[in-house]
Order: sequence, then structure tokens, then C-alpha cells
Amino acid sequence: MKRNMSFAVLILVTVFLSCNKNEKPATEAQDEEIAQTPVPVQEEAVAARVASPVPGYGVSYKYGIKDPRYAAGYHTGDDYASPKGSKVVAVLDGTIAWSNNNGGAYGTWIGLRATNGRDYVYCHLSVRSVSTGAKVVAGQKLGEVGATGNVTGPHLHFEDRPKGGGYGQVRKPTW
Ligand SMILES: [Zn+2]
Repeated sequence: MKRNMSFAVLILVTVFLSCNKNEKPATEAQDEEIAQTPVPVQEEAVAARVASPVPGYGVSYKYGIKDPRYAAGYHTGDDYASPKGSKVVAVLDGTIAWSNNNGGAYGTWIGLRATNGRDYVYCHLSVRSVSTGAKVVAGQKLGEVGATGNVTGPHLHFEDRPKGGGYGQVRKPTW
């Protein structure tokens, strides 16, 4: 009788231990599976945002770099080096505040008064595709990259100013 009870306890302990042993790996496997589940992306929101004012081209010379050749003492916009004729697009919906060839050192230029209350300034253009007062939507072509004004080669100089702001009233371009 005593031996039978000891045997029963041994079986119970063995079953208990082997259960514990099996449970942990099962939990880990489950955790791993959860971590591999794809995270859904809101495709509409991603598609609506314009990644660059010059589609396909990134910043080649950044805003804020100190340089005495600028009147402000620093680079007042982001430059997008790109071939002459590359299209420039509206980064947000808005209205064209100005579009002319009278930018001086900025050459042929366009001001986009965006729905976020900022003026985005497109400089050194070769072609203007929109006139002052035109309503535009994000991604719409405004003109083409050029080398008008005071430049050494074709690029878009792109500024972010408060509504009606002048030279030097800028922040790092954000939209
Ligand atoms: Zn520049």
C-alpha cells in the first residue's frame, strides 16, 4: 500500500514537471508568431503626402548650413539638385501667391500659399506652369527646375516662410 502511494506521487510529480517543461516553449512560439503579424499601414494617408517638391529627388544641400555667401549668414532653404526640366510639385493644397520672373537672385520663382498657412517658395525655375491666383492640389505640377538667378547649376531652392514672410523669415521646410 505504502509503495503504491509513493509510486502514485512519483507519477504525479513526473506529469507535473513534464507539463511545465512543455508549456514554456509553447508560449514562446506563440509570442514569436504574434511579433511576425504584419502591421497594417493606412495607405490613403501615405499616398496623400507628397514626399518631395521634386519627385524622385532628395535634399542635396540642407537648410541652416552657415555660409557667409548668403545675406542671412546661413542657407535659408533646402536645395534639390536635379536636371533642368525636372518637374516641381505643390507639397500641399493651396493658392499661388505669386508666379513671375522677378525673384532677383532667386530668378524665376513661385510662391505657394498652402492650406497650413505657410508660403512655400520655389526658386531658380526654368518653366512656370501656374499663374498667380491659381488653386492647386498637392502633387500638382507647378513648373520645372532650372538655373535662373544667382546659381552655379540647376536645382530647386525651396523655402518655408510664414504667410507673407520675406527673405530670412524661414524655418526648416516642413509640410
Ligand atoms: Zn539654396
